[in-house]
Amino acid sequence: MEKMLSFLGRETELGDLEQPVDVYLLAEEQVVETCGLGIDDVYACAFVAEPNPVVVTSYLPTEHELVHAYLSLKQDEPKTRYAFLEEGLASVYGRDGSSSAPTTSLEEGLPFDRSLPLDQYPRAAHFMNFVIDEFGPAAAARVVLASSEVRDMDALNSTFIETLGTSINALAELYEQESVSCTSAGWQRGYDCGAPAEEWHLSGTLQLDIGRECRSPTVLGSSDGPAFERFTLEFPEATTVSIRMDTPVEEHHATIRLTKCGTCDDEFSFVYDLSRGPLFELQLDPGKYVLRTLYSSGQSEPGVLVIRQQ
Ligand SMILES: [Zn+2]
Repeated sequence: MEKMLSFLGRETELGDLEQPVDVYLLAEEQVVETCGLGIDDVYACAFVAEPNPVVVTSYLPTEHELVHAYLSLKQDEPKTRYAFLEEGLASVYGRDGSSSAPTTSLEEGLPFDRSLPLDQYPRAAHFMNFVIDEFGPAAAARVVLASSEVRDMDALNSTFIETLGTSINALAELYEQESVSCTSAGWQRGYDCGAPAEEWHLSGTLQLDIGRECRSPTVLGSSDGPAFERFTLEFPEATTVSIRMDTPVEEHHATIRLTKCGTCDDEFSFVYDLSRGPLFELQLDPGKYVLRTLYSSGQSEPGVLVIRQQ
């Protein structure tokens, strides 16, 4: 839980906490009573209290609620923030939350300014993952913190324009297209493209363990569900690559996305679902690329991704 908080502080550029959060581990009935939300399926909650913010939980580790407490401490005056955005961010970084795939639409979830119904959480997390992808975690956290007075879609729209420079409609449209194209802000290009590239084996292969670090605080996504990991690859010359999973595919279903570093002039983005079998002979121009894996085994079993250059 502490590692997650320091990862959150680094990624959002909001830094470490200056005061502790008190975490109480209680029996489920006591949690329901203490959280006082009037519903039975409450397993943890966070609230502002003196002298320290409090997280009450019936399970450990409980990272999701810590994200709420963290955000409260990063505001001058703790106020409730826009539910759809905050629950999304808390679900992305606090990996003990729901791991199921979204079953509701963005249009349905976005109007929830306070208390988000549980079935909307996966969509909120998916959307905030997209915002992080597009604008970076610091900007994603800024928009959540800026949303505390927001109670309707008009005000939400103004907050997006002020914080991210885009209207919520334009962003929703981009999201629906699941665009990773050059028209998007492409935070990964700046951040991951600056990172050192993975080292290739002399035989021209590269073996990446994916999902191994599912419980590591540097993986985005739920610890028992989909996890995103990012790797930086570099090819000094034009090449042809084949990519396969070295573990039983039925159990792992990794999806990969390869995006070229650089400007819109050499735009390249490629998505492939390895549950369809190995990917053969993808031709690549020289340069740096960001490989993102979406790994949804639902297990703690890691997968091995093998990339071979011809
Ligand atoms: Zn929450």
